[in-house]
Amino acid sequence: MKSRPYLIAANWKLNGSTELAHSMHHALAAVDVFSAEILICPPVLFLHQFPKLRPYQLGAQTVSDQAQGAFTGEVSARMLADAGVSYVIIGHSERRALYHEDAALIIKKATQAVLAKITPIICFGETLAEKKQEKTFEVIANQLDAVYAAQPELLLHSVIAYEPIWAIGTGETATPAQAQAVHAFIRQHVAKLNADVAKTIRIIYGGSVNASNSAELFSQPDIDGGLVGGASLKPDEFISICQSVRD
Ligand code: PEP
Repeated sequence: MKSRPYLIAANWKLNGSTELAHSMHHALAAVDVFSAEILICPPVLFLHQFPKLRPYQLGAQTVSDQAQGAFTGEVSARMLADAGVSYVIIGHSERRALYHEDAALIIKKATQAVLAKITPIICFGETLAEKKQEKTFEVIANQLDAVYAAQPELLLHSVIAYEPIWAIGTGETATPAQAQAVHAFIRQHVAKLNADVAKTIRIIYGGSVNASNSAELFSQPDIDGGLVGGASLKPDEFISICQSVRD
């Protein structure tokens, strides 16, 4: 068993329904005990469809950078906490690309989450062009440094998700060796910033994780779980992924 507890997170994105919330709950409740912490991040509208007694946690896919006030359409970290949320995904590449979320905004959102006692899952990753130019480590280091420079203590309260952008929703996965190399780099880089945080911080992998590739990915020493998109919409497959964590 790893000293860091595994985290397997489902990112439903703009998908799902009351029916899926119920079927996912029943499927997870039937298993009851997992060797990993399991997290479901549905669209916020469905949070209340999950019962309070459950063998998994609830998360959100984003959060407002503001605490309260005249910000039409936003949902605050305190509201999420009130709805039972314990994690929030921040800085997903889709939000960075489609909603122009930059490092400053990501840091403000993560700070709001921590103030509400919600753990941010901060996403980092390189594009295909950056990978081809062999800039993966440089890009990741810059993304990490931007967070650390603005709020050194944020990483202490966060989970890191390594999500190579070329692997998200494409069916193309980083090989376990490729993913492990980047995760090890991230841990070494965090160690330069704070050695204690490097030992305990969980670094999860996202990018076309499915029931066929999850066991090998999760057996890598620096991969502490997964952020699962498409495959998390199928309860049976998601449960297989959750069960592929070895004790
Ligand atoms: C994601 O949503 O973060 C993700 C990794 O998606 P997928 O598993 O579909 O690639």
